[in-house]
Amino acid sequence: MNLLATSIEYLKGVGPKRGELLKKELGIHTFGDLLQYYPFRYVDRSRYYTAREIGPDHSFIQMKGRIGRVENVGKPRQKRLVAEFFDKTGSIDLIWFQGGRFIQSSLKPGVDFIVFGKPNFFKGRINIAHPEITLVSEAPKMINAQLQPVYSTTEKLTGRGLNSRGIEKLQRALLEQVYSVIPETLSQEIRERYTFIPRKQAIRHLHFPDSQEWLQKAQARLKFDEFFFIQLQLLRTQLAHKKKFLGFPFKVIGDNFNEFYQNKLPFELTGAQKKVLREIRQDLGKGQHMNRLLQGDVGSGKTMVALMTVLMALDNGYQSVIMAPTEILANQHFEGITELLQGMDISVAILTGSTKTAQRKFILQEALDGKIALLIGTHALIEDRVQFKNLGLAIIDEQHRFGVAQRAKLWKKNTRPPHLLVMTATPIPRTLAMTLYGDLDVSVIDELPPGRKPVKTIHRTDRARLNVFQFLRSEIDRGRQVYIVYPLIKESEKLDYKDLMDGFESVSRAFPRPQYQVAVVHGKMKPADKDYEMERFSEGKAHILIATTVIEVGINVPNASVMVIESAERFGLSQLHQLRGRVGRGNDQSYCILMTGDKLSADSDKRMEVMTSTTDGFVVAEEDLRLRGPGDIMGTQQSGVLDLKIADLAKDQSWLIQARHSANQLLQKDPDLSDPANRQIAEAFKQFIREHPNWSRIS
Ligand code: ADP
Ligand code: MG
Repeated sequence: MNLLATSIEYLKGVGPKRGELLKKELGIHTFGDLLQYYPFRYVDRSRYYTAREIGPDHSFIQMKGRIGRVENVGKPRQKRLVAEFFDKTGSIDLIWFQGGRFIQSSLKPGVDFIVFGKPNFFKGRINIAHPEITLVSEAPKMINAQLQPVYSTTEKLTGRGLNSRGIEKLQRALLEQVYSVIPETLSQEIRERYTFIPRKQAIRHLHFPDSQEWLQKAQARLKFDEFFFIQLQLLRTQLAHKKKFLGFPFKVIGDNFNEFYQNKLPFELTGAQKKVLREIRQDLGKGQHMNRLLQGDVGSGKTMVALMTVLMALDNGYQSVIMAPTEILANQHFEGITELLQGMDISVAILTGSTKTAQRKFILQEALDGKIALLIGTHALIEDRVQFKNLGLAIIDEQHRFGVAQRAKLWKKNTRPPHLLVMTATPIPRTLAMTLYGDLDVSVIDELPPGRKPVKTIHRTDRARLNVFQFLRSEIDRGRQVYIVYPLIKESEKLDYKDLMDGFESVSRAFPRPQYQVAVVHGKMKPADKDYEMERFSEGKAHILIATTVIEVGINVPNASVMVIESAERFGLSQLHQLRGRVGRGNDQSYCILMTGDKLSADSDKRMEVMTSTTDGFVVAEEDLRLRGPGDIMGTQQSGVLDLKIADLAKDQSWLIQARHSANQLLQKDPDLSDPANRQIAEAFKQFIREHPNWSRIS
C-alpha cells in the first residue's frame, strides 16, 4: 500500500470531521494531495521591520511592537477600527473594516505583539489593513525555517482550526511521516541536466524553506515537474494519434492548384503563407492524419491558405468543408472564395441555418453525390444529415468558438477522419498554445501582407468627444467609413442596449441626414433587419455603423478606416485587438480610437497603453496573459489544463519550454518509457494519468 494514497482523515490531527471538510473545501483526499497543497506565499520571519524603515516598495512585512490608542472611526456605513501600533522608531495604523468588535477585545495594551501585513501609504501615514496579529508569547517557534508558509484556506476550515497555521501544522506532521517515501519522478539524466535537487527535498523546502535560495531551488524543480508531465501526456497523445489514425494521403499537386496558383492568385503570397502551406503540404502528403492549428493575426491571410489547402484536397479527389461560427462570416467566405475561383470549374456551396428547405435538399444531395467540392457553412454542417461522398478536409475558422464535441462530429463524416485545419485569429502566447494545444501541430502566420499600414491607435476620454466627432467627419468627407462599437456584457444587457441606443441618437444628431447615413445593428434586431443594415454599410451606403460586438467576428469592409470603441475600458485586451483588426484592411491609414471615462483603474490604464503602443497581436496576447492570467484568455475557460499547482504560464515560460523539450527528447529515445533508466518517470507518469484522466483531447 502506497502511504501517500492514504485517506486524509488518518493523518494525525485530522480525523473524520476535518477530513470531510478538507475533501469538500480543498479537494484534498489523500496524504499525497495535502503534500501537494502548496503555500501561496511566505512570511519572512527572519527579521522585523521598524516603523521608520518601511518604504512604499515593501510588500508583506513583519513588525514587533505595542498597541496604542484604539478607536472606531467613520460614518456608520463605513465604520472601521483603527489601532495605533508603535515601536521604538515610530508608529503606524492598523485598520479593520470588518470584525472590529471581535478584534478590539484582543488588542491588549502593554504587551508585545507581532504584526504582519502589507503596508499602505495614505495621506502621509502608513497603515496595514487587516493585519495578521499574534502575541509574541504565542508566536510559534520556527523550526529550521526563516520563511513561514502561508496556505489559503476557507471559512469553514478556519472554523475547525484549519487556518493557515493549522494547515502548516498538518504539513509538518505529514512531512515527518512520509518524507522517506516521497518518490523521485525524474530520471537521473534530467536531474543532472538541470542540476535539480531531489523531489523529496524540493517538496520539503517548498513548504518549509531554509532560505530564499532553497525556496528557489524547490520552486524550479517542482515547476519543471508539473510542466514536464503535462507535456509528456500531450506529446504521447500526439504520438499515439499519429500512429492510430491514417489520413488520406494527398499525393499530388494537381491542375486546380496549379491553375489557381499561376493564373488566379491576385497577389504574391507572403513568406509566412508559403511557409505554412509547406507545413500543411508535408502533413497531407505523408499519409498521416493532419491535426493542425493555424494561428495568424487578423488580416494575415488565413483564408487564402485555407483555400489553397482545399485545392490540394480537390486535386486528390476529396471534398472539403469550411466551418465558420457565424452566418455573416460563412457568407463572407463564400463570396470571397467564389470570386477568387471565378473561371474555374469548381463547385462551391453554402449551407447555414437560414438555407431554404428546397435548396438545402439540393445541396445535401450534391454533397452526397460528390458534386460539391467545397461546402462552406455554420454549425449546420455538422448535422448528421450532412453526408459526403468523400470528405477529405475540414477547416474550422475561429475554432475557439466551437466545442470539442462539435469538432469531433466532423471527424465522423468519412471512414477515416478528414484532415483537420483549425484556424484562429486570437493569437495565443506560444507557451499557452503549447499547453492548450500541445497535442496539435501549430503553424503561425507571423507576417502581414505587404503595404498594410499599421492601425494608428489613440486613447481619448469623453471630454474629447467633440474633437473625435470632428475627426470622423473629416474621414467620412474623404470617402471613408466608420465603425462605432459598444460593449455588450450579458449581465447588464438592458443597460448596454440603452448605452447603444443613446449613442445612436447622439451620433445621429452629430451626423444628420441626408448628408450622413448611420446604420445600427444589435442583438435585439431580427436577422433580416440586421442583414439589411450590415449591407447598407458594406455597400458603402451608410457612413457609420453602430454596433455591439456582433461585428467582432467576420465582416470585411476595406473602405472602413476608423474604429471607435466606446467604453473601451470594459473590453479585454484580446477583444480590443480583434475589433481593431476590422480596420486597416485597405491601403489607407486607419485609426482605432479608444474612448473611455476620465478616471481609469490602473489595470484599464495599462490595457489602453498596451493597445496604443503595439499592433502586434502576439505582444497583445502576452500582455493579456500577464495581466489577467491564463484563465481569462479567450477560449481557455473550459480547459482544466490550466489548473496548475505551482507553475505559472505567464511567468514560467522558460521552464515550460525546457519541460516540453525534455519530454520530446525522452519520447524520441524511449517512446514507451520502457528503458530502466526512465523507470521513475514511467511510474510517476502512470500516477499522473490516473489523476488527470480527462486531458486527452479529440482534436
Ligand atoms: P484573416 O487571416 O484575418 O482571415 P483574410 O484571409 O481575410 O485574413 O485576409 C485579409 C485580406 O488580405 C484579404 O482581403 C485578402 O485578400 C488579403 N490578402 C491575403 N493574403 C495576401 C497577400 N499575400 N498579399 C496581399 N493581400 C493578401
Ligand atoms: Mg478570417
